[in-house]
Amino acid sequence: MSRRSTPTSNARAAALLRDRAASQRSPQKRRAYERAADAVLALDHPLESCLGSDGRLRKIPNVGPSSERVILEVLRGDSAESAVRAIAMAGGNTRGPGTADSHQHFLASADVAEALGNSTLEGPTLDDYQGDLQMHTTWSDGTVSVAQMADACRSRGYAFCAITDHAHGLSVAGGISMQELDDQKQEIDAINRRLRGRFRVIKSIEANILADGRLDLTADELAQVELVVAAPHSALRPDADQTERMLRVVSTPGVHILGHPRGRKSGVRPGLRANWTRVFAQAAKTGVAIEIDGDPRRQDIDFALARDAAAAGCFFALDSDAHAAFVDIAIAHARLAGLPPARIVNCWPLEWLLKWMRLRSTSTDQ
Ligand SMILES: [Zn+2]
Repeated sequence: MSRRSTPTSNARAAALLRDRAASQRSPQKRRAYERAADAVLALDHPLESCLGSDGRLRKIPNVGPSSERVILEVLRGDSAESAVRAIAMAGGNTRGPGTADSHQHFLASADVAEALGNSTLEGPTLDDYQGDLQMHTTWSDGTVSVAQMADACRSRGYAFCAITDHAHGLSVAGGISMQELDDQKQEIDAINRRLRGRFRVIKSIEANILADGRLDLTADELAQVELVVAAPHSALRPDADQTERMLRVVSTPGVHILGHPRGRKSGVRPGLRANWTRVFAQAAKTGVAIEIDGDPRRQDIDFALARDAAAAGCFFALDSDAHAAFVDIAIAHARLAGLPPARIVNCWPLEWLLKWMRLRSTSTDQ
């Protein structure tokens, strides 16, 4: 079988199934389409290989007859019609949930496996990857402790990880107060003492980007941590262009990483619109890394936009955004974009990473 460097039909079919789910009134039907979308995303082979010579789909668990019809439309290449119908069902809004636009350039499991195993691609490998720079713990909305996260990263062979619980401005995600952050720092210091020389936990935070591009933390508060991921979690549905908002973030002293820049979420919202070329050019100038967020529902930025950021000269951060899972999706996007490991801060030796972090922390240039 020839090697692919473009995604399979799996993600496209899953996207249309999610669109169908979003347009159902009946909770049962909605759940059935959602389950089918999840099943297709998790398949380890292309849907094309499930097509029998009789033109029917071989049995896929959790995919019923209605979902099968959607998949067959995609495989026969007439899914444009489905997309138009879904848009019509979403009230003609071409950027809302239930539109093809909200799932652009998503990867399914089969795509991730193929990108990681395809030796003709030039991006980073799993072995190049040294550590995850966006992870959440029980201090905010994660499910595991700092120590458990560090152990999981060590078992993956990482050299470092950053603990980036949500800042206190984000109360919906159980944001961490400055007092709690202080307690967390002591916990991290103890872990680093225990693992000295073998692993390094980086004290970090995920700040929320407000509607005007300011953060939910003051400059003094930002200075309390070693690494700041700034990411949008509110004002995610404005019609207006968000270029100025994002330019302000990548020009803010003390910010290291622009996290999941568009704030898109599969089946929920398509994400912010901005002149990303201008945002990337400014980020390249200030040395702020652009994140490829590996959360399966986010995949933000994706491989296509990553190519634009690479052309602008940006650094990248490939993160799991783990509340539990890991980073393979982000690495797959980076490989499809052909990003050189030297531009990916997670692939740097710890010493380089710490040096870049300190440079950004103390930088005043905008
Ligand atoms: Zn986030």
